[in-house]
Amino acid sequence: MMRQKMNGTAPLTARLEPWMEDLLNDPQQCRELIETHGSPVNIHDFRPMGRNVSELRSAAAAHGIDFQIYFARKANKTMGAIDQAVRENCGIDVASLNELRQCLERGVAAESIIVTAAVKSPALLKLAITSGVIISVDNDDELRDALELAGAEEQPLKVALRLAVTHSSIPATRFGLSADQWVEVMGDSDLKSRVQVAGIHFHLNGYQAQARAIGIVESLGLIEQLRTLGHAPRFVDMGGGIPMSYLDSRKQWEGFWTTLKDLPEGDETLTWKSDRLGTGVYPYHQELIRGEWLDQVLTAVPESAQSEHSVAQALTAAQIQLRCEPGRSLLDGCGLTLAEVAFAKRRSDGVPLVGLHMNRTQCRSTSADFLLDPVLVHATNPRRERSNDSAFLVGAYCIEEELLLRRRFEFPAGVAAGDLVAFPNTAGYLMHIVESASHQLPLAVNVLWDGGSDRKGDSGSSGDGGRWVVDDIEKRS
Ligand SMILES: *Cc1c(COP(=O)(O)O)cnc(C)c1O
Repeated sequence: MMRQKMNGTAPLTARLEPWMEDLLNDPQQCRELIETHGSPVNIHDFRPMGRNVSELRSAAAAHGIDFQIYFARKANKTMGAIDQAVRENCGIDVASLNELRQCLERGVAAESIIVTAAVKSPALLKLAITSGVIISVDNDDELRDALELAGAEEQPLKVALRLAVTHSSIPATRFGLSADQWVEVMGDSDLKSRVQVAGIHFHLNGYQAQARAIGIVESLGLIEQLRTLGHAPRFVDMGGGIPMSYLDSRKQWEGFWTTLKDLPEGDETLTWKSDRLGTGVYPYHQELIRGEWLDQVLTAVPESAQSEHSVAQALTAAQIQLRCEPGRSLLDGCGLTLAEVAFAKRRSDGVPLVGLHMNRTQCRSTSADFLLDPVLVHATNPRRERSNDSAFLVGAYCIEEELLLRRRFEFPAGVAAGDLVAFPNTAGYLMHIVESASHQLPLAVNVLWDGGSDRKGDSGSSGDGGRWVVDDIEKRS
């Protein structure tokens, strides 16, 4: 366990991987990374991905289903993440032309890629077609565009149909078409020879296992109808949204929300300007994650099913492979963001502030805040005298509301310019999904642990030949 030098005024203690503890217990190494690459620096060690993958595979194997994982690459832009996913025998889900191109250039097999971009440029469609990558088509217009681009290709166009699940318990979605709409589109007899429907794809908001069970059953229903039209789909891809948990303590998580709710208006002991963090925060603590969650999906017997079959039995009976596209939950434990303290000061009304060499897009998802306590790494020689007020973390954008995190933090052993602050477990979305280079500030450099001969080890120790290297995404032209 690390000695805590920083915690929220209502603590939300991050679960740390052994490699993170090793690094954060080595202030010299942390300093070197910041000096070499600037602040902040995105640090990755992809070894935990293997464990995350195994948890899902074991759950699937226990049900005897045919199962495959496609890593959702939009969750982290490094090439290291792709390499690790390939080492773990996963496919890759790509969301743009550049993502696809980079995967193909990296040597990912076309059969191991699916294109799920929400809107697909002609160039993306063309590259997918010429390389034989399955396209998850969103709608009729997109299907017609792809067919035009396929033109005189000898092979039929390989697609998955993106299904908008229409069950009453699932909110309306902009993505895909309903089963009825797809049956109508595919009813065009012209399409039978020109389109090969390889599978059905959906991706749902939220993290409900039950919702995935309903989606799978609806997909199997569509597959039955497509079979009568002469198509032979092989898989159902249930997309991502597989839960993970950033903090172990449910007590802390629930305690934080209770305290926040009861706080008097204007009280800033917990959050900036007593922000209630009302809308759309990721559930940073979840009970059922990955394997156990998948088991719940597979054992479910949705009411909408035609029989008493569980989801696993229905898949097996239909001889359909189940696929998923986890992003965040595969990257659990694979990254942290390290930044340098620039100054400590007081707001005009006296509230203490700690400024970092970092902006708020560098540790953010689409969620209102990243609800995890950072880890403070004291510099061997701080540049100023340490102060130990509880403070808010402010960043580099010239905006009054430029808070790196919206919670208030305590520094029992003090904090000063030159100390380092590590944001744990940021590899899934937190580093890249909304990062911007506004103000002409450069994007953070991405480094990864190259284990050398130690690559297979899971201990997180820096074995022979291991070193921190710049990820190849920084070398693209
Ligand atoms: C974003 C996305 C994913 C990954 O979702 P996670 O929540 O990171 O697991 C998978 N599939 C599609 C189509 C997506 O848009």
